[in-house]
Amino acid sequence: MRKFKKYQKNLAKEGITQEQQEKLFNAKVLVMGAGSLGSNVIMNLAALGVGQIKIIDGEIIQETDFNRQLIHKYKNIGRAKVMSAKDWIQEFNPDIKVELDKTKLHELNYFNTIENYDIIVDCFDTNEAKYMLNEIAIRHNKILVHGGVRGFRGQVTTIIPNRTGCLSCAIQKPRFFKDEEFAVLSPVASVISSLQAQEVFKLITGEGELLLNKIQVFDGLKSEFKILNFAKNALCETCSNPLGF
Ligand SMILES: [Zn+2]
Repeated sequence: MRKFKKYQKNLAKEGITQEQQEKLFNAKVLVMGAGSLGSNVIMNLAALGVGQIKIIDGEIIQETDFNRQLIHKYKNIGRAKVMSAKDWIQEFNPDIKVELDKTKLHELNYFNTIENYDIIVDCFDTNEAKYMLNEIAIRHNKILVHGGVRGFRGQVTTIIPNRTGCLSCAIQKPRFFKDEEFAVLSPVASVISSLQAQEVFKLITGEGELLLNKIQVFDGLKSEFKILNFAKNALCETCSNPLGF
C-alpha cells in the first residue's frame, strides 16, 4: 500500500509488523521542549512514522543553541522553536499532523496542553521543569518518558502512574533548585533522546521491554551503559500521594 512505502525499512526483515506500523500512524505523542533532547526525539518520532506530534516550547532560537539543537537552522535565530520544529517535520514528512503550543508550561495552564495525549516525552532542560512535569503526569495519569543530560552523562526511564515509581522515586527531588548551568554536548544528548524515542516506540507497539522501575544511565566518556533498578517509594510525596491529601 502507498502509505507504507516510506516505512519499507521499518517493515523489512527483523523490523516491525504492518499492524505495529499502523499503531505508530495512529499514535499521538507530546514532546515537552524543542531544544537539545526535543530536536532528536522529534526527528526520530517523525522517522518512525508517529502520526501526530505536539510540541511545547516557549523559547525562541538563539545563537547559543547551535552546539546541540539539531532541528533548528541558523537563519531562524529569533524565531519560535516550535515553528522551526514544525517546519522541519513538514519538510521531512508532510503526512504527520503537528500541533504547537508556545506557552511556557506552568502549574496553572497545563491541563489543556496534555489532555488529548497519553504519552509525554520530557525534553525539558531544567530540573525544576522536569519535577513539575513529573507531578503533572502522575496527577493526570499520563505516561512520562524521562530523559536528562548533564555534561557527558545522561539517563532515561519510563514512568507509568500507579505501576512504577516516579522521577522523585528514581532521583530524589532536591529541596531547592539551584540556578546552575551545566554543559550539554550533542552526542550525549543524541544518545539519550534516541533512547527516549525507543521507549516511545516500545510503548506504542508493545514490542520489547520498557525501562520500568529501571533507569538507564549513559556515560559518554567511558562509552558505558548501566541499568539501575529503583522501586516506588512508599513515602514519595508525588506518586504515593498524588492528590496531595
Ligand atoms: Zn514517586
